[in-house]
Amino acid sequence: MKILDIQTGRISLPLARPFKTALRTVETLNDIVVKVVTDEGVGYGEAPPTAVITGDTEGSILCAVRDYIRPALLGMDVMDLPAVMARLNGCLVHNTTPKAAVDMALYDLWARAQKQPLYRLLGGARERFRTDLTISVNPVGQMVEDSLDAIGQGFDILKIKVGKEGEKDVERVCAIREAVGPNVKLRVDANQGWEAREAVRIIRAMEDKGLDLDLVEQPVPAADLDGLEFVTRSVSTPILADEAVFSERDAAEIIRRGAANLINIKLMKTGGIWGALKICRLAEENGVECMIGCMLESRLSVAAAAHLAAGQKIITRADLDGPSLCAIDPYSGGPAFDGPAIAMRGDFGVGVTGVPCKTWNEGM
Ligand code: MG
Repeated sequence: MKILDIQTGRISLPLARPFKTALRTVETLNDIVVKVVTDEGVGYGEAPPTAVITGDTEGSILCAVRDYIRPALLGMDVMDLPAVMARLNGCLVHNTTPKAAVDMALYDLWARAQKQPLYRLLGGARERFRTDLTISVNPVGQMVEDSLDAIGQGFDILKIKVGKEGEKDVERVCAIREAVGPNVKLRVDANQGWEAREAVRIIRAMEDKGLDLDLVEQPVPAADLDGLEFVTRSVSTPILADEAVFSERDAAEIIRRGAANLINIKLMKTGGIWGALKICRLAEENGVECMIGCMLESRLSVAAAAHLAAGQKIITRADLDGPSLCAIDPYSGGPAFDGPAIAMRGDFGVGVTGVPCKTWNEGM
């Protein structure tokens, strides 16, 4: 299966409501899509420009695919996956988002050629699982309303975005716990918004109030590993490393230091499934459970993440709410996202088709 071309296009999907974190506010999903063309069919991938987290912008994604990845991979055989992945990951450093988009398109083709849904070739650990839903950071009343709305849609795990106003975050989570009752699982994501001592004070306050959190995600800046380790050792709530872990090397350092209890894997940080599997292996060897997460992505790339999560036993939590945050789903095929329920289906490869892109930048 010979790679003949790698093309790029754009998709734009309205969000059901503005997405707000400590880092940004977004109202429309605008992503680059990638099509890997071979002599035996095409595979698709998606690249969300998330400059505040990955450093990858629309321009840098297009340039990386056009000037580095495409020339490096043309003529290669998709079925020799290790060689293709070595070339993809070696042709330029960083740029994990464009690498992820091409990686998932290659896995799509690779699994389809073997007439298997991808998750079965990635370990086949489960066929269905549940995702949380993100509650954007807003005035308390609005967050309570959004949480109740999510429960109404069937969600029983909420991920609450905080990290903007220190102690007020305790009030936010308290109000939500009171409103949703004890049976809903609550996760808190500070998106690097606190400083280490402040994080310990806030998390302990949440513990003292009996808020019963499943985890707190990335309390301190990504580069502050000392701070992350200090927080993890100072509280009893499990701490999840997100922005602090892109690569297998990052994960190894976190695990070695015991700087976090859990690791959040996102394809856009690992450069795709190939890199994510390395982290899964390492995590499994060390008994560190992982969460699968996503950026603001449509069902195209979230489907690839779902295949990884369904394949790997060590991924015990899912934060794959991208499709639920979009107002429309233009695709067909692939895993079914029905509110909190994600169900794998029998389509070969990643399985998603019907990418709503009118013009592809052919043979750039
Ligand atoms: Mg996060």
